[in-house]
Amino acid sequence: MATDSSFKLTYATMYNPPEDLHTRYDEALTKIKAELGREHGMIIDGKDALSQEKFENRSPTNTDLVLGIFQKGTAVDAAAAIAAARKAFPGWSHTPWQERVAIVRKAASLMDERIFKMGAVESLEVGKNRMEGLGDVAEAADLFRYACDRMEANNGFVTEMGTDPLVGYSSTNVSVLRPYGVWLVISPFNFPSALTGGPTGSALVAGNTVVIKPATDTPWTPRLIAECLRDAGIPDGVCNFVTGPGSTLGQALIDNPDVNGITFTGSYDVGMKIYRDFGVGRYVRPTILELGGKNPTIVTKHADLDAAVSGLVKSAFGLQGQKCSAGSRILIEAPVYDDLVARLVEATEKLTIGDPTARKNFLGPVVNKSSYKDYQSFVVEIKESGKILTGGKILTEGEYAKGYFCAPTLAELPFDHRLWKYEMFLPISTIGKFTDLEAAMKIANDVDYGLTAGFYGSEEEVEWFFDKIEAGVTYANRPQGATTGAWPGFQPFGGWKGSGSSGKNSGGIHYLQLYMHEQIRTHVRKA
Ligand code: NDP
Repeated sequence: MATDSSFKLTYATMYNPPEDLHTRYDEALTKIKAELGREHGMIIDGKDALSQEKFENRSPTNTDLVLGIFQKGTAVDAAAAIAAARKAFPGWSHTPWQERVAIVRKAASLMDERIFKMGAVESLEVGKNRMEGLGDVAEAADLFRYACDRMEANNGFVTEMGTDPLVGYSSTNVSVLRPYGVWLVISPFNFPSALTGGPTGSALVAGNTVVIKPATDTPWTPRLIAECLRDAGIPDGVCNFVTGPGSTLGQALIDNPDVNGITFTGSYDVGMKIYRDFGVGRYVRPTILELGGKNPTIVTKHADLDAAVSGLVKSAFGLQGQKCSAGSRILIEAPVYDDLVARLVEATEKLTIGDPTARKNFLGPVVNKSSYKDYQSFVVEIKESGKILTGGKILTEGEYAKGYFCAPTLAELPFDHRLWKYEMFLPISTIGKFTDLEAAMKIANDVDYGLTAGFYGSEEEVEWFFDKIEAGVTYANRPQGATTGAWPGFQPFGGWKGSGSSGKNSGGIHYLQLYMHEQIRTHVRKA
């Protein structure tokens, strides 16, 4: 990133950034505040496209603040974007992969250059604190570069195979991975850079053309990602960007038979609907789903409780608990239960909440009114069967008056309560006590999700945990985050069971191949 060159920003290092980073963020924030309220187009076939209807993008920190005006795209725009991507496919897929890699790398460099502006936009539209905002942009850039690196490391995925033992002929067999065609990328609100950029970068490096549809709560950041690609010289039609409601525009994209593959990141319910709808095509098309999580952390009596408190609080309440990887279930062994719970409550009550662009604040608001209302209903439901240990209230006075601020909440709840299995996606974590390790593991695994999981215990117990836990991303004894904080190339990210469809993690060595199908080329010549 464009700051002190010795500092590498990741979700694990972000707690001790150099001073320079804050100065540059503050400068970018001042600039971006002067640009609020402008209209932003879609990008179809390289040109800005406007629609009849518009929608306002308002800040969850202060709902009086209109960040920008965006296009309420329709089925017509969906069809135009897919047609543009279809037209651009022959050219892009036959562009030498080295050239594709060069453009995608250039776009990653532009993200580095623009990181402070983009990070500030994320704080404003998502409600992320400044380090989380910057982290998301840095992750998107690293995901772009990772896809490029994998393409290079595999020599464009052209591989000589064995030679048939033919008499009188010579034969060559070559395996080539080739792109599918038009790839749809539908992203959620919570990581608008990495979850738009990651799939887009891989699809493009592989030679597909792309249509991006971001979440309606957060259209601005993905537009800035699309601009990095445009400014890096991506040819017209190769990367299109449309905005509008998932239920209409999104559905029209899903239903279009000219789409050859999709990466959807979002909720389980929408993802499963998309999976079924996309499945009615004439043949099976690749469907990469990255869905929700209900991520457990098991803490045993042998744990380093300082590490556990540090990791658990970060993972429960980073981005207001609105991470797919949020640590939403905490299981604690009886002998350390009282001590750890008291320390967790104390640490949670020390967290600062407020304007997420302000350096001092760790939590910002939740993303929208619907999440704000959900928080209040969950608190009522928890109080009926369990006990709120801390939090459990919305904040409405002073600087909180015009935003969706919710106090970080820890709650004791019986293990048979439905909220142990339901993804609330809010700053609420449930806590339970166990006396038997195997029983705790059973509870940890007894959900339809399998995204991330955390563990604090002895060295011997760690191996048991890795072996038994059903999750795609697992962490042991990590103070930097119990269940959160994956980084491309270090912790490739993806889920098991209802958390993901491909079984291969983004930012890992097996991921780019998902965007290509194999062709074997056997060429026989007379000897
Ligand atoms: P949603 O499922 O509500 O929305 C995700 C995207 O789908 C949005 O762009 C939305 O558009 C679009 N969409 C909605 N309905 C349709 C439809 N019928 N057809 C096509 N597109 C549609 O998720 P959120 O944005 O609320 O994100 C939170 C969820 O994402 C959580 O469950 C979280 O766990 C999960 N997630 C998973 C990750 C992973 O890697 N496994 C990472 C991050 C989040 P619109 O906004 O216009 O409705």
